[in-house]
Amino acid sequence: IEPGEKPCSTSEDPGKEEVSPAEFAREIGRRRNFAIISHPDAGKTTLTEKLLLYGGAIHEAGAVKARRASRHATSDWMELEKQRGISITSTAMVFETRGQLITLLDTPGHQDFGEDTYRTLAAADNAVMLVDAGKGLEPQTRKLFEVCRMRKLPVFTVFNKLDRPALQPLELIDEIEKEFELPTYPVSWPIGSGDRFLGVYYRPRRQVHLFERGGKHGSVGAAVRVLDYMDPSLKTIIPTDLYKQLEEEVEMLEELTPPLDISKVHSGDLSPVYFASAMNNFGVELFLESFLEYSVKPGTHSSDIGEIHPENPSFSGFVFKLQANMDPKHRDKVAFVRVCSGQFKKGMKVQVSRTGKTIALTRPQKMFAQDRSIVDNGFAGDVIGLNNPNAFCIGDTVFSGRQIRYPGIPSFSPELFSYMRNTNPAKYKQFQKGINKLLGEGAVQVLYSVDAGKNDPILAAVGQLQFEVVQYRMLNEYGIETKLEPLGYSVARWVTGGWPAIEKAGRLYNCMVVKDQWGRPVLLFRNEWNLTQLMGDNKDIGDLVPIALPP
Ligand code: GDP
Repeated sequence: IEPGEKPCSTSEDPGKEEVSPAEFAREIGRRRNFAIISHPDAGKTTLTEKLLLYGGAIHEAGAVKARRASRHATSDWMELEKQRGISITSTAMVFETRGQLITLLDTPGHQDFGEDTYRTLAAADNAVMLVDAGKGLEPQTRKLFEVCRMRKLPVFTVFNKLDRPALQPLELIDEIEKEFELPTYPVSWPIGSGDRFLGVYYRPRRQVHLFERGGKHGSVGAAVRVLDYMDPSLKTIIPTDLYKQLEEEVEMLEELTPPLDISKVHSGDLSPVYFASAMNNFGVELFLESFLEYSVKPGTHSSDIGEIHPENPSFSGFVFKLQANMDPKHRDKVAFVRVCSGQFKKGMKVQVSRTGKTIALTRPQKMFAQDRSIVDNGFAGDVIGLNNPNAFCIGDTVFSGRQIRYPGIPSFSPELFSYMRNTNPAKYKQFQKGINKLLGEGAVQVLYSVDAGKNDPILAAVGQLQFEVVQYRMLNEYGIETKLEPLGYSVARWVTGGWPAIEKAGRLYNCMVVKDQWGRPVLLFRNEWNLTQLMGDNKDIGDLVPIALPP
């Protein structure tokens, strides 16, 4: 806070427009946020769209794709997404339903963008694990689940595509329980699958929801017939074999699963399970209803000064994603902030803990399904987009009131390294500008040779696609044609002892010494084996740690 300036939202200075403590608690309590994790093609886009549809945020299915399409039209680097048929960007969408305010954090599907997904999960309070019921667990689901586990996120499992031939529900559940060592609590249970998918048994109300085929996939919800489980007519509606199976399975569920322990759900030790056919709108509404009941509201966050409660009156949050040029007409850059405590108001001043700078939140935005809108205020649990170019890095803490710092966001260490050459020396300045901008955004890490005169950056990435995106954006946003020249290294380590440690260690074999953007030494190795060997041979080198953001 600048001298003479009053903090905006602290207990010492509640301010005139401050809401009452009861109202404040109510606002936070009605917020829920979640991210969907899944393997590509499991139906995440479809489920997102259907959730927005039921949540009343959109009125027509197809709008999410339409939104994508129109974004493609306005933002040309996203053309790459279209060409590759993948979703690279992640945004936060907000919708209100049954009095609750839901933020859906959209995570990119492609595996090269695991890094972005990682960061997004750092901002999420709940995770929805979407699994193709015909395939069971897949590699990307496994990888992302591990991140959720590390963060102890509540995980809600949704098995999708029941309208297609599916594995037996018991098999599906067993896979999760055994492989993830995660007990489950089936909230709904399928009746048949594929052509014989008839509907689900919904345990909280002991009802059978029968799915009527041939309904419209679009704007209206699925036609559903709801019957009490005890209704004698069920036997005549459901074919005998499926009815018998349902009876047995329901009995087994009641006997074998202990009553739902919500505290275990909240600690990530028990996963509620649902069965659905997102494409047919089926099971989505039941899931949403149940999710609203079982999911966690915004909770406490650890910081350098202890646990921060969301109802702490001082505003605080952290930057989990930076995205440049969402709207190329304005060349803007948006920093996405997860609000951890307090309330923010348009125009309020906050500090960035890394730089100590004060910044006014003049145009905080929220992303609704189709649009971004400027928001006047918001609360812990929200995700806001800030328009202050270059003020933020990923992992930055922003706060008002007492100085605090949230731990950085874990990230993967890059495994691919490549020189990026500028093919037109006359455009040297533009080239540097582009690289710096993308670097600031955290799109890629950049290293430099230690040899004088070798100024071309070495890009360091987790996946090949990251390089392609950088090349594409250099061309489309800065008019620079670039060439990549891969380096055969796959492991990068910071030398924690800095240049003195390098000096002391003397000649180093089977590695390349480079420096990072802050001029600190980094060693590149062809493989883990070379790394182990070097550490064995050169005790003087000291500690080596994976290079990962934030430093
Ligand atoms: P994402 O890659 O996870 O975002 O998956 P999409 O939502 O794009 O879906 C992948 C494909 O599966 C698309 O062709 C969808 O139409 C299809 N799909 C999604 N949900 C269902 C479903 O419930 N049943 C069937 N049969 N297909 C589905």
